[in-house]
Amino acid sequence: MSIEVENISKSYKSFTALKNVSLQIPEGELVALLGPSGSGKTTLLRLIAGLEQPEEGRILFNGEDNTNRDVRERRVGFVFQHYALFRHMNIFDNIAFGLTVRTRKTRPSKEEIKEKVHSLLKLVQLEGLAHRYPSQLSGGQRQRVALARALAVEPKFLLLDEPFGALDTKVRQELRRWLRHLHGKLGLTILFVTHDQEEAMELADQVVVMNEGRVEQVGSPEEIYHHPANPFVYSFLGRVNLFRGRVHNGKIKLGEAEFETEWENKAVELPAVGYMRPHDVEVSLHAPLDTAIQSVQAQISRISLLGPIVRLDLKRLDTNEVFEAEMSRQRFLELALVEQGIVHVTFNNLSF
Ligand code: ADP
Ligand code: MG
Repeated sequence: MSIEVENISKSYKSFTALKNVSLQIPEGELVALLGPSGSGKTTLLRLIAGLEQPEEGRILFNGEDNTNRDVRERRVGFVFQHYALFRHMNIFDNIAFGLTVRTRKTRPSKEEIKEKVHSLLKLVQLEGLAHRYPSQLSGGQRQRVALARALAVEPKFLLLDEPFGALDTKVRQELRRWLRHLHGKLGLTILFVTHDQEEAMELADQVVVMNEGRVEQVGSPEEIYHHPANPFVYSFLGRVNLFRGRVHNGKIKLGEAEFETEWENKAVELPAVGYMRPHDVEVSLHAPLDTAIQSVQAQISRISLLGPIVRLDLKRLDTNEVFEAEMSRQRFLELALVEQGIVHVTFNNLSF
């Protein structure tokens, strides 16, 4: 089912948690809501689920207005960050819960429920654990039970609020892969919240970047990483270097390095900022032979060996700005770089 959010605003007393948010989630997509804590992700999810009402705007499911429809009629599956399983119920009863509480008219028979729960246990790879209690499962297993419970009512779409947030890195990675696999198998529309950019990039077809109650950018992981819409998205999606300079007559000067821009050729001089990912900083021991390539000198202040990559903390000699470069271990060994050494750096993929 497709979900459309149209110009939604939501306030808590005088505090505006969502400001004119619009979104389109096509049927069958896996979409990540990515943003820092407090950016309004949970609020947006609760509005889509029907747990809260917006002051303004509409929420459409398959083109049909659901803004004021009761939560029970929306057929959404919801999984919260803190796996809220019923502690006094075994796994079977936890998963069956949403089916057993239905009115007699729509409630499946005991046999049907049994069959359903066992097929869900198989789906989340927890066969044989039906009679255990939540306290007898690992965090990752509990979260899979929570997903099975959400799926039991055959939701039209799934809303997951930081579903793996409370788990350790290795388990998170496993569950991510598993969720991706599950999504492929079920073809369900899934909207999941995360504050972890890596999780969003790895899992999602589309990423919605939120900040302070607004949508900053919507795009594929590739688009938002390589073509960030603004400085917030740029810095939220990974490490970034900022170089401050000035733009004048269509040229941007960042210290001794000068770059052409497509900016309007204004005669006034204005401040400008260049952004660059650390892995786009090219480090070498000599200035480039081609003098058209802009380079500056920098001093290495620290070398961090991070497994397959090496990070250098650098300081420009022309402006004293500090920045980072990243390269493969192999490249680092080839260059034989040493701390306190002076290197030449060139700026690839600099954006303004
Ligand atoms: P996120 O999930 O991105 O961390 P939330 O949607 O939970 O953000 O919250 C967004 C903002 O709205 C936060 O500043 C939070 O303090 C505020 N907020 C959320 N729920 C309530 C509430 N029930 N009452 C008052 N303020 C709230
Ligand atoms: Mg939240």
